Amino acid sequence: MEESSPMKLVVEQLSASYGSINAIRGINLTCETGETVAVIGSNGAGKSTTLNCICGVVPASEGEVLLDGFDILDKPPHKIAMMGIAQVPEGRRVFPRLTVLENLEMGAYIVNDKAVLKERLEYVYNLFPRLAERQRQNAGDLSGGEQQMLVIGRALMRNPKFLLMDEPSLGLAPVVVENIFDIIAGLVKSSETGIILVEQNAAIALSIANRGYVLENGEITIEASAEELLHDDKVKAAYIGG
Ligand code: ATP
Repeated sequence: MEESSPMKLVVEQLSASYGSINAIRGINLTCETGETVAVIGSNGAGKSTTLNCICGVVPASEGEVLLDGFDILDKPPHKIAMMGIAQVPEGRRVFPRLTVLENLEMGAYIVNDKAVLKERLEYVYNLFPRLAERQRQNAGDLSGGEQQMLVIGRALMRNPKFLLMDEPSLGLAPVVVENIFDIIAGLVKSSETGIILVEQNAAIALSIANRGYVLENGEITIEASAEELLHDDKVKAAYIGG
């Protein structure tokens, strides 16, 4: 395959349950490298479950996840990570007693080449100058917004083909959310990484996405361009507020 041709992540008829709770049912979604896809939905709609199934963290009961045509659904999470899918889980899980630099290095544990590691570190510091300023501080001492930057930076350390972000806005003050989304918007414009962005904050997610899906009670109910979704009356009423 030529380097410039886009890779495709295809989710087909994906279902998953926790005991008797059918968390997601028959999810179909796609993302290509170079595009950003938003998945919006309220609490408990199944957004995290969808991402966790793609990453191999939660087992699916049915369906397929194809990475360039290759089914990765039964692969363990570390294999899926090595194939180029990185997850930024909900809840800013940093290693609090490790420094910012050490946290970032943990993200690149599969990179052995020192020169590549240095290049990735420079890339992340360039994207998040705040992390460069705080590289010797313990991650546990960072603000919530800085910790969110750190977990995104950590996932970018191994130059993933696809980045799966779970609610980066959660629990952050509006001004901090704006700051982080400005940076994510820069990432969207400048990188070839395909991004699946799961968000309850539909307005901000759709403002940077190319396309979007609405997830309700475990099922995709609307799929459209971000522009269309931003102007959709139902989406506006349910997820944007008017
Ligand atoms: P949130 O924004 O609250 O994280 P979500 O859209 O990401 O919501 P999921 O976390 O995927 O939704 O949850 C989907 C459904 O599965 C919900 O009904 C939730 O209660 C249930 N669920 C999620 N995780 C578990 C679990 N570990 N055990 C049992 N039920 C779960």
